[in-house]
Amino acid sequence: WCKKNGRNRSQRFSLELAGEAQMDLRLEQDLRQAIDQNELQVYFQPIVRGDSGEVEALEALVRWPHAVFGMINPERFVGLAEQCGMIGELDAWVMQRAAREVRELHEHGRKIRVGVNCSALNLSDPELPMRVELALRSSGLPATYLTLEITENALMGNVLQAAESLQKIRELGVKVSIDDFGTGYSSLAYLRKLPVNALKIDRSFIRELDISRQDQELTGAIIAMAHKLQLRVVAEGVESLKHVALLREQQCDLLQGFWFSRPLPMSELREWLSLYRPVDVLPPNQQAS
Ligand code: C2E
Ligand code: MG
Ligand code: MG
Ligand code: MG
Repeated sequence: WCKKNGRNRSQRFSLELAGEAQMDLRLEQDLRQAIDQNELQVYFQPIVRGDSGEVEALEALVRWPHAVFGMINPERFVGLAEQCGMIGELDAWVMQRAAREVRELHEHGRKIRVGVNCSALNLSDPELPMRVELALRSSGLPATYLTLEITENALMGNVLQAAESLQKIRELGVKVSIDDFGTGYSSLAYLRKLPVNALKIDRSFIRELDISRQDQELTGAIIAMAHKLQLRVVAEGVESLKHVALLREQQCDLLQGFWFSRPLPMSELREWLSLYRPVDVLPPNQQAS
């Protein structure tokens, strides 16, 4: 199998590692099957405009309801899919499904965009542009309504050489944002090398925004820098009215987090959309701005 087998670690961990490796192997096999048999699900979380509070986009987030282990978090299996060469297919599957569901939403009069996560590993996969085109064509979703959120993980090394496939995707009219901005060791390198439209500030900068002067300085600086580069900014992990007020003061373009809604299956999201009113979630004395 594909995972490192712990040769470098000391003897006393070898049993534990064998157990973990076995679990990874099991999940790897099950994931293969889950992808092939359409057992994965896509949830959607709204992204609202900082100025008006209107819903501008959704983020598609994969979910894996496992027959034995229950709902498995993407944090557990996305990395595994990356290690085992399945991430291209996984992300393509989510993109297809998300594009189709959002296209259906358009038919019901809700013209909103959708962001799908795209592992930075896929940037060096020559099939990526074709997969994006296929998702657009088979769903009928116009390219301008799709964003790829590029997510990296620390082990990836230099994926920047492969930026040309991203250029092809941009030429289709698809947008690109950098996810978890501020945490990846090469965030700034991505900014210089990739054709990017937006940054998503990682939620670790937002969590204590209301009590941390330093985090306020950081988000303010990231937003100001992004705007100088003509990029839009999304804040992730917005959990309180205080967060909303501070980020609005800093002219943050878009807000996403549990304060507005958790990620929901499309049927529940439609219900949520029909009840949603910006006036309920923005600070009362700021609404006119
Ligand atoms: P992400 O792309 O940064 O997505 C945002 C994550 O933050 C989601 O976790 C979401 O549920 C969570 N979140 C949203 N608002 C809040 C909040 O207010 N507070 C807190 N504490 N959390 C919030 P989720 O769905 O578990 O996904 C985790 C990560 O897994 C994603 O982070 C993304 O990196 C990855 N991922 C998810 N779906 C996919 C996919 O289809 N493909 C790839 N390659 N990665 C994916
Ligand atoms: Mg994301
Ligand atoms: Mg993120
Ligand atoms: Mg994140």
